[in-house]
Amino acid sequence: MLLGSHVSCQGGISKAVGRAEEVGCECIQIFVSNPPRQWPVFSDEKPDSVTVQELQTGANSGSGTQQWRAKPLATSAIEAWNSAISASTVSHPIAHASYLINMASPKDELFRKSIDALVIELERANSLSLNGLVVHPGSFTESSESEGLARIVDAASEALERVAAGTCKLLLENTAGQGSCLGHTLEQLAYMVDGIGHSDRIGICLDTCHAYAAGYEINTRQGFDEMRKKMDDLLPENAIATLHLNDSKKPLGSRVDRHEHIGLGEIGLDAFRFVLEDSVLGKLPGYLETEKGIHEETGEEWDVINLRVLRELQ
Ligand SMILES: [Zn+2]
Repeated sequence: MLLGSHVSCQGGISKAVGRAEEVGCECIQIFVSNPPRQWPVFSDEKPDSVTVQELQTGANSGSGTQQWRAKPLATSAIEAWNSAISASTVSHPIAHASYLINMASPKDELFRKSIDALVIELERANSLSLNGLVVHPGSFTESSESEGLARIVDAASEALERVAAGTCKLLLENTAGQGSCLGHTLEQLAYMVDGIGHSDRIGICLDTCHAYAAGYEINTRQGFDEMRKKMDDLLPENAIATLHLNDSKKPLGSRVDRHEHIGLGEIGLDAFRFVLEDSVLGKLPGYLETEKGIHEETGEEWDVINLRVLRELQ
């Protein structure tokens, strides 16, 4: 498995490539909208004081942010990225979309803004020749699961129709199922993939922390195999395109999304071994979304440590 991490674009998108190399990434995830209001927080890219509740309900959406008004990237930024990535050993670059996007929103204004933002992010991702754009499907808030799912299908279909096909696939990420977040079951993801169509431009990003928090017992052989069988039964072949490799601070089925360093959380190392050894999942690129910073005792970057822990399991 190619192993990498989410890396900061502070100072310009092309700067992320050097940062990825420094910690030993073979693949890289970035944000293409700046500065993204995001959650969970990466330590060097602090979001504004927006709350999860605001993101889910759309309260405060757009007020005073650059996010919704993001323009296509400057040619100079694209050129700098292209030369940095082509001179690098880092491959499989992907982006994570803004956490402000809520394709399931019952509020028309937020729904329309979400589609527009997704279009811009897909265009940006294509202009950088990225392989994928990971998006959380959305929260239905005061509507219902079925209405939310229908909105997600409509939003993603429209976005893909508005953007010319390029390198970038739209990757729906499984979620922990916090609040009214959709995409925490494989059934919901299958419904979305089915409804959206565009099968060559759509895929799934499987996050280990989210799967566990959503109730998939991936840390036991039986639980992992059950989830894998469900994937095979419900999803089209090759639907899973990428992995987010995160341990979880919160227990099985907690439906709370808190990432932990690999092997130091509730999931533990076995699940990562199962993933790495899997005949399908083990061939996909895997990205860390764990906290940045330096280990207090060893002085090592946490990304270096987490990547080493994973490589030792291979
Ligand atoms: Zn993730």
